[in-house]
Amino acid sequence: MLIRKVYPCNMLLMLIVLVGLTSCKKRTAQEKEIPEIVTPPTDSNKTVTTPPVDDKNKIVIEIIFEGNPTKATATPAKLKFNKIGWASAEWDDNSIGALKGFEKLKTTFYTDGCGNKIPYTAAVAVNGRNQYSNEEAAKIPNNVNYDQMKTFINAGWDIENHSYYHDPTGNYNFGTDRDRNVKELDDLLLKNLQYKLNGLVVPTNYDGFPTAAKKIGYLFSTSQGTFDGFEPAGKPVYKNVQDFDLAPKDFSSFNRMFFDDWAEMERNVKQAIADIGTKNNPYFRFASHGIDEAAFNRIIDNFQSSTADKILFIPTREAMEYRVMSSLPIKYDLDGTKFTISIDVKNLPDRIRWRDLSFLVSADKKITAVNILSLADKVTFNSTTGLVNVFKQVKTW
Ligand SMILES: [Zn+2]
Repeated sequence: MLIRKVYPCNMLLMLIVLVGLTSCKKRTAQEKEIPEIVTPPTDSNKTVTTPPVDDKNKIVIEIIFEGNPTKATATPAKLKFNKIGWASAEWDDNSIGALKGFEKLKTTFYTDGCGNKIPYTAAVAVNGRNQYSNEEAAKIPNNVNYDQMKTFINAGWDIENHSYYHDPTGNYNFGTDRDRNVKELDDLLLKNLQYKLNGLVVPTNYDGFPTAAKKIGYLFSTSQGTFDGFEPAGKPVYKNVQDFDLAPKDFSSFNRMFFDDWAEMERNVKQAIADIGTKNNPYFRFASHGIDEAAFNRIIDNFQSSTADKILFIPTREAMEYRVMSSLPIKYDLDGTKFTISIDVKNLPDRIRWRDLSFLVSADKKITAVNILSLADKVTFNSTTGLVNVFKQVKTW
């Protein structure tokens, strides 16, 4: 399998300038992998052979074939890396159980379908302040703190909104003002982490939180029983393995398995792992306030061996955001050996963190290289299967 990394554009431009200053003949094989991005000419006698891609509103890549194909097509894969399903885990209430889960997940991998290992990731649902002491939840001992949240984010985990005050009672609360609880925690985490949230875990069973999550622009909420009537939770009644096609792309109110008894958790999640091959486009979600490390490790080992690199283990946000990306306008253009894919991100909501897309490319010539022309962080490809992955992520706002 051929894998080629392409460096960020600013580095590329610096490299191109440096190479130009020395000698074109000195270009090494590695430097030849640099995409042909040319800065606009300052001298009117020069022409630009490959025009720079016009603006910051497009992610553009260029696929190079070994010869001129008679035809080339590409479609976004249904799920990232062309996997057939996904699973998510989350810890509520700033639980430090997440830290122990992290130790196992960061050493367990699926692949991107191009030979690169990617660690399993999960999510932590956090509060803003304690409703009795008004202490900031991230500063209370034995809670996940801001530094740990940053570590999680940088490792590919997500942070979820679990309401500013967990309950409408106590010395400090916002009563039944769900919008304020969601918005003020959103603001607090933006201030402390420079991170925008895109999902909510309903605190206790208070209705109105899924509605508030949708209203602020999040892509999902989750709960064991509170869905405000949003799909897919009630259709059909379920909490284990389900069909992701039943979950609306713009906002989904997910059910989940929730256990603090890890014997129960292990039994139920292992059953879900056994069932995940029985549904179309399947997923399941599970959550807890804590962890039994031995049981968790057995669950993850069982997941990895049973799913054989076919199922993603990712935050729910990542699964939901992928579908937003795959719904964007995409243009395809074949010109000789070059096949350009241009993704229009102009109307993409600012909250979207994972701007990745995987393409299934079909042509009668093999892919020999993939270059970034605009915005992407990285590309990987598999010349045997025609899978091309485009990576683009926002981690700070
Ligand atoms: Zn809670």
